[in-house]
Amino acid sequence: MKSPARTQGALSRRRFLAGASASLLAAPALVAPALAQSGGSGDVDIAIVGGGAAGIAAARRIAAAGRSYVLLEASGRLGGRARTVSVFGRPVDLGASGFSRRDSTLAAAAGEAGLALAPLPVARRLYAGGQEANEGDYDAFTLALGRLRRDIVAAGDAGRDVAASSVDTAGGPWAATAAALVGPLACGRGLAGLSTLDLALRTPAADDVTSPLGVGAMLESLGAWLNVQKDAPVTLITNAGRTSTLAIRGQRGVVRARAIILAVPAATVVGGDLRFNPPLQTRVAAAFRAFPAGQIEQVAFALPGNPFQLGADEPVLARVDGATPGMLWPGMLRARLGGSDVYRLSFGDEAAREIAAKGAPEAQRRVNAWLKTAFGASAPDVAQVQSSNWSTDPLFRGAMALATPGQAALRRQFGDPLGRIFLAGDYTSVSQWGTLAGAWNSGEAAAARALSLVTGPS
Ligand SMILES: Cc1cc2nc3c(=O)[nH]c(=O)nc-3n(C[C@H](O)[C@H](O)[C@H](O)COP(=O)(O)OP(=O)(O)OC[C@H]3O[C@@H](n4cnc5c(N)ncnc54)[C@H](O)[C@@H]3O)c2cc1C
Repeated sequence: MKSPARTQGALSRRRFLAGASASLLAAPALVAPALAQSGGSGDVDIAIVGGGAAGIAAARRIAAAGRSYVLLEASGRLGGRARTVSVFGRPVDLGASGFSRRDSTLAAAAGEAGLALAPLPVARRLYAGGQEANEGDYDAFTLALGRLRRDIVAAGDAGRDVAASSVDTAGGPWAATAAALVGPLACGRGLAGLSTLDLALRTPAADDVTSPLGVGAMLESLGAWLNVQKDAPVTLITNAGRTSTLAIRGQRGVVRARAIILAVPAATVVGGDLRFNPPLQTRVAAAFRAFPAGQIEQVAFALPGNPFQLGADEPVLARVDGATPGMLWPGMLRARLGGSDVYRLSFGDEAAREIAAKGAPEAQRRVNAWLKTAFGASAPDVAQVQSSNWSTDPLFRGAMALATPGQAALRRQFGDPLGRIFLAGDYTSVSQWGTLAGAWNSGEAAAARALSLVTGPS
């Protein structure tokens, strides 16, 4: 007789095969929540906690291997920090909005599922003093950014793990803008709080591709056929020898698993609602605490009639006036999403924290001030915005995990299993942290390791 676990594994395999063709439709009806039917309890080979890119990639790998699994997601949707919302009648990503085509198998997975991808322009338009920058400005910005990156990499190569602000020798009118691009806009924190080593080890390629559906919707589609239990926040993971049990808030039963892939954001592993029995070792908990999250929030709004004559999806940066701190907080605009009248402006660090704390009125105020500083006093006001809230959402607690200066070497620790628990998520990647590709790759890697544990001698 087949064990319950193997039977479920066979079902998962069939679902996978069905999904390979049916994922075009991404029909929710294909999801067969086996554990939900049994009141939330059950035995599986591998339980995956967290349905973002890492968790979805892991679950797909395990389903393909024919093992039993369940993907437990706290919220009502898959995708995590890739979230597509409908704004002014079109899909808009308020989290990850693009990714590098060649740095993971994500683009290939989308292609196999029949989900089209669209190229994203990577060259930025620069504005200063209300008008487009001149050629000299473009050169000065490129020089400032190149110098800053060179200084950071040189420090990292020399093994110096210090605050990135302390090695920044770039001067000139565009130095503050380059610093803003590397710090608050890309990571959600200023250079003073970023580690040279952590930045130097990171080699993300430019996000050169997006999904016309929205990257969040694309991920939901890639996970639609998996054995997922949504609205299932895991609150306690208990090690019980050769199995572990997972308690889910609001459910009487537990899930028992031979291995666990923990694919939740770093900030929720410690300081969140998730507990471990026995507790995480002091060394492990300290490593997590050395990686507090940076803050990035995005604001979407409509501007009819292409008032600034920008191309579809063009990224725009406005010069940050370093001499007058606070005169203009840095922002990065993505214009005319997919050729539409909808725009998205990203803010980092303090501005993002304020937006998360105060909501839409603050987001609207900052958007209008940014547009006027970038494009001049005649820039139209926007009357309605929709903003993200990653910083205060308890399931995320920020945008991405960043090493405190001096602590970057600890990131490697996240590659070590905690007994039968394998960590996955963007923060576990030394070279691709804070990226969708890094998260996807980490999920596949964790799945391979969990599979070898459950298929090996037990
Ligand atoms: C504003 C913003 C813009 C970004 N832009 C880009 C970009 O353009 N390109 C790029 O490559 N990257 C970008 N990123 C980074 C990218 O979004 C992340 O690196 C990636 O999505 C992380 O995936 P993940 O699976 O590691 O984690 P997440 O996507 O955070 O998934 C974790 C999942 O765990 C769930 N969870 C949490 N706690 C529990 C629990 N107790 N039980 C069960 N489930 C739980 C959460 O609900 C979530 O679904 C951006 C991030 C932000 C915030």
